[in-house]
Amino acid sequence: MPSPMPDYVVTRKRVKNLRITVKPPAGEVRVTAPAFVSERAIRDFVASRAEWIAKHQARIALQPAPLEPGPDANRLRRELRRAIPPLLAEWAPRVGVPIPDFTIRRMTTRWGTCNVRARRVTFNLELARREPELLEYVVVHELAHLIESGHNQRFYAVMDRALPDWRLKRKALNHGGIARDLADG
Ligand SMILES: [Zn+2]
Repeated sequence: MPSPMPDYVVTRKRVKNLRITVKPPAGEVRVTAPAFVSERAIRDFVASRAEWIAKHQARIALQPAPLEPGPDANRLRRELRRAIPPLLAEWAPRVGVPIPDFTIRRMTTRWGTCNVRARRVTFNLELARREPELLEYVVVHELAHLIESGHNQRFYAVMDRALPDWRLKRKALNHGGIARDLADG
């Protein structure tokens, strides 16, 4: 059965190609279009991507609402604050770095960040709602940044050595959570 034609909002921009994005939390469809592309062509393009759009909207609908400040967030923060030190103690020697300080923050674009100079790593509070092995992956990822700050061959070599299946975990982390396709800091 073909997917129904979705509603969409068009923004005209100085871009070369048509682009469709599906925005959480409501799954709104936005189309970015060059000035010269007709309404008709945009409609045809959206229609041709209807199945892809429906799939993304379904995925977004399954995501939990973002964490708001309050008792739940406080409880999750306490849980995460307890869960992280043993992971740092276990993984810092394996990665080959000293145990860094850490903080927990609500973030919308990152699972974690690493301030190499201050030797401080920051974790997204949302990790408290994800599987423990995904938190573990982010811990190892941020520790690896203490060796190599960029996402380059050297960084991936550190990750491959420490956590050979890290790519699977990154994939799992970026699917089915509130932090949709968050970059990994
Ligand atoms: Zn990173």
